[in-house]
Amino acid sequence: MNVTLCRIHDQEIVGGSADDAGAEFNSATLFYLTAEEMLPYYKRLYKKRANMGLAWYHKNNPEDFYEFTSMALNDVYNFMDGGICYMHMNFKARNVTTRSEELFFAELALNNSVSDANGGYSTTTCSIVDDDCVGGKKDLLGVKDDLPAERYDEKNCYACAEKIKHPTGVTYKGGHYAEDYFVD
Ligand SMILES: [Zn+2]
Repeated sequence: MNVTLCRIHDQEIVGGSADDAGAEFNSATLFYLTAEEMLPYYKRLYKKRANMGLAWYHKNNPEDFYEFTSMALNDVYNFMDGGICYMHMNFKARNVTTRSEELFFAELALNNSVSDANGGYSTTTCSIVDDDCVGGKKDLLGVKDDLPAERYDEKNCYACAEKIKHPTGVTYKGGHYAEDYFVD
């Protein structure tokens, strides 16, 4: 039992590439850096987060195997919902067999100890999306008439902007309340 657990744990950590190692940093590391100097840290960190998403995807879709190809740093939304920090992101990955590149959505939640190997984050969902998928509804918050009557909307995310493509709403946990989130 322990061996199995260890293996799953290792897989999540090494799901990406060798340069995911050491990708975690704490904000004190960046204290004296300019925004430009911080970029490589975030590039490595978010690539690692995307690879954590892919590890989750591979566990749930063992017939497919994808490798990370690219992502835009501003396609990552960090926000708080119900006292938990969530991360919603889009990134691209290529199927190693067919070579076709797909757009992915991943949600990660800060629900473990921040001192663990993944900064306390674990993947709650990861799936393939496309440009026809529904975008985040953050921009609707300023246009009250378009808001749903119910504050809770299981189909949509109100933390992300329109450009972040989301899968079916019930598959992810954060962002369903039609309200302003503290977005980083
Ligand atoms: Zn979202």
